[in-house]
Amino acid sequence: MNPDSLLETALKAARDTRKLAIGQGTRHEAPALFEAIFGRRPAQIVADPNTWEAAGRDVVAAFRGAGHPCPGPFVFGADVYAGIEDADRLEAALAGVDAIPVAVGSGTINDLTKLAAHRLGRPYMAVATAASMDGYTAFGASITRGDSKQTFDCPAPAVVAADLDVIAKAPAGMNASGYADLLAKNVAGADWILADAARVEPIAPAVWEIVHENLKSWVADPSGVARNDPEALRGLVAGLMMSGFAMQAHRTSRPASGADHQFSHLWDMQRHAFQGAAPSHGFKVGIGTLASLALHQDLLARDLEHADVERAVASWPTFEHEARRIVELFGPGELAAKAVEETRAKHPSPDQLREQLLRLGQAWPEVRDRLARHLIPFDEVRARLRQVGCPDRPQEIGIPADRLRVSYEQASSIRRRFTVLDVARRFGVFEDSMRAIFRPGGPFEDASPFM
Ligand SMILES: [Zn+2]
Repeated sequence: MNPDSLLETALKAARDTRKLAIGQGTRHEAPALFEAIFGRRPAQIVADPNTWEAAGRDVVAAFRGAGHPCPGPFVFGADVYAGIEDADRLEAALAGVDAIPVAVGSGTINDLTKLAAHRLGRPYMAVATAASMDGYTAFGASITRGDSKQTFDCPAPAVVAADLDVIAKAPAGMNASGYADLLAKNVAGADWILADAARVEPIAPAVWEIVHENLKSWVADPSGVARNDPEALRGLVAGLMMSGFAMQAHRTSRPASGADHQFSHLWDMQRHAFQGAAPSHGFKVGIGTLASLALHQDLLARDLEHADVERAVASWPTFEHEARRIVELFGPGELAAKAVEETRAKHPSPDQLREQLLRLGQAWPEVRDRLARHLIPFDEVRARLRQVGCPDRPQEIGIPADRLRVSYEQASSIRRRFTVLDVARRFGVFEDSMRAIFRPGGPFEDASPFM
């Protein structure tokens, strides 16, 4: 399918988004895009001081130049963050105007506007200022309430404009971060192939196509992204937007997130910081991608077709045993409680386990061939992360090898999603895989905290 018809198909499948424009200077076309969906209803621009300078001012000028009603913009202070207090403040301001919000920004502004608009029962438009993550077109807003980050279920924007001229000038690291978030879809797809083969979660072919039909071309030019080449950025933005549409169509994040994201979510939940700040989402996902990929490649070298299924079933822990292991692993507290709850949702009985393993074993020769064709190899992924300007060693985001090793233990338990981590555990090869991955000369050999 050519890219334009794939985009059309994806927009049709998407639940919320009806219009997407990606191009140079798109910020000036915001009024026409807005009007095509919302008519002459007033547009309320929402920004922060940086995104106001980058694009917000031009967007307001475009609306006013087109004679479109556009009340004074809502510009957050420089200390804006994706917290419930800021969402409340925006909601109160929007409640006083009869207007459709237009979020000009990236993750934070988009998530705040998404939640505030949803609470007021209004749709919204997004003008993307950085290719930093796939959340523009995803449903759900990630907002901090009290101590914890929560995902609120709310619709994606009805209209999205991505201006490549603005994105080319995004602060250092943001587009690199988005590149890693997009590159992760490759290994996330491999997890879905395994879940499908185990008949835990079937692949939805139409959704699969939205992400994987063009993924390898979208991620083909990391150096181009690093030097803000418009065509490389166009591919990156298209891929991130399409990933969001796939999530809208599937109504879960399965099409865009596997074990790669479980590592990142784990470090979020542990409030991991490095050099005084939390590493960006994409930087964490990039390292999570390498971790997941190392395990996939280890499994590819194994003969799971002839694995001793009865032995694996006999040594499979009861859920009570598993729950105790999790509490030991995390220490008592909220995180352990959440991990126990998520693990409960996917913990198979011995009979269910036998069935999963027999299915996977039987399908293995075919699955292994498919995975070998599908996966971008570890060394290539690492090289691309480096070229785009992302950390490509765990210690660069403050995760030394011993912490990464524990993270492999912990990551699968914090989400009920079935991934390569579960496959390794269920076949009873997890410990052996860890020895192989952390061997001298292995992929994370130089992840020492003292380098
Ligand atoms: Zn992500």
